[in-house]
Amino acid sequence: MPFGSEHSYQNLSDQLFAPCEATPVRAPQWIAFNEDLAEQLQIPQELWATDEGLQVFSGNQTPEWATPAALAYAGHQFANFVPQLGDGRALLLTEVLDKHDQRFDIQLKGSGRTPYSRGGDGRSPIGPVLREYLVSEAMHKLNVPTTRALAAVATGEWVQRETAQPGAILTRVAKSHLRVGTAQYVLHLRDYNLLKRFADYIIDRHYPELNNREAPYIALLEHVQHNQAKLIAKWMSLGFIHGVMNTDNMTLSGETIDYGPCAFMEAYEPATKFSFIDKRGRYAYQNQPAIGLWNIARFAETLLPLIHDAPDTAVTQATAIIETFQETYEGYYWQEMSAKIGVTDLSAAKPLIERYLNLMQAQQIDFTQAFRFLGDETPERAQRLFKNSESWQLWFNDWQKASNNSDLHQVNPAYIPRNHLIEQAIQAAANDGDLSVFNRLQQMLAEPFTEREAFRDWFEPAQAEQAVTQTFCGT
Ligand code: AMP
Ligand code: MG
Repeated sequence: MPFGSEHSYQNLSDQLFAPCEATPVRAPQWIAFNEDLAEQLQIPQELWATDEGLQVFSGNQTPEWATPAALAYAGHQFANFVPQLGDGRALLLTEVLDKHDQRFDIQLKGSGRTPYSRGGDGRSPIGPVLREYLVSEAMHKLNVPTTRALAAVATGEWVQRETAQPGAILTRVAKSHLRVGTAQYVLHLRDYNLLKRFADYIIDRHYPELNNREAPYIALLEHVQHNQAKLIAKWMSLGFIHGVMNTDNMTLSGETIDYGPCAFMEAYEPATKFSFIDKRGRYAYQNQPAIGLWNIARFAETLLPLIHDAPDTAVTQATAIIETFQETYEGYYWQEMSAKIGVTDLSAAKPLIERYLNLMQAQQIDFTQAFRFLGDETPERAQRLFKNSESWQLWFNDWQKASNNSDLHQVNPAYIPRNHLIEQAIQAAANDGDLSVFNRLQQMLAEPFTEREAFRDWFEPAQAEQAVTQTFCGT
């Protein structure tokens, strides 16, 4: 079997995608190539950071193993249903089987207009490409399920936004690009057989263990919900704010997808949001679990016709699953959080975590550092962090009695992709063609749990004048 040439999704139905070629770019240049991922995916060596690879990953050349297509999907954007969104600036090149026979999509993002572009230009400025590259790879290293970045290339063309910016293309790798919004799109085609084949496809591809179940579709709902609850608990445990949890930005595989206005919280404040377009904070840090549940309910709606012929019965069964979301989520959340303080007994861990978060919130303490320092051999750094050291000391004494002395530096990262650092990397690349900040940041984030003297200057949260308080989709 030659590389690529796996197109299982496109074999499902030609109603679900539009064949489309990338629009060539003037002068492609490498920004980054992810060799570890390339090796895992068995990408042929002749494409690794070579001229041939540059032509392929800039969309200038369609290799014989690719059948480029824009995938159709719908979605609720800020709770408003849009029946047709779809890949407006992305193309699925192929599916591949990795070393372990696991199937992955390879997608170009920023590769030009598609039939789903609506008013958009199908392009991406370099900023969002660097951001997605850095943050998705960092999330992977932080053990969060996520799409990944295989390559980034500059196009040598300008992209017009508020100002003209250098263009770039990201090559994204995902277990699949199928979203809650994809299921919504299929439902709206009103073709029962297609809906069933779509759901069976999701089961085959992502939940094969459900294949012989008596009630596979209710089990599918349960498993997608389970993965989302687990994923969002991971986000919460790292202070990650996705920023635009529309149903088209939630995968059915359970991977984080679409790093637009995402950001990591610094000072702990549950109401934190960064996204400029999220005026009311729908997607604020503390709302993420509730929004996850809301999105899962939209997914459940797409499965109702498959769950039972009698609509009432289908609704009752689906509701019974959805009602367990909160409990599942909380189970994972407390598990993540108790690991962060090294207290295994949950009844002891919960009040300790709550007290610690309250202290952090009251004193605006950096979330990442507050947990990181608990793993130190001596309490100095933790103590220095808290201005009201008396209340901290009380908590610390109680915590020490309960903690099991596990190596918390393996659990709580030293480095996260802080906003102001990403911004520095983008500014240097966009304004001066200087990739050194981006490269250094990549290096730091490649080992987030290992503190290194060389990155001392990037360990701290932003100073007031550097702080980035708003983020943009940049599309
Ligand atoms: P997102 O903000 O990434 O969730 O995108 C929402 C929708 O807008 C998707 O259908 C995208 O494909 C589309 N879109 C975003 N940016 C562009 C662009 N520059 N050109 C065409 N379509 C776009
Ligand atoms: Mg999206």
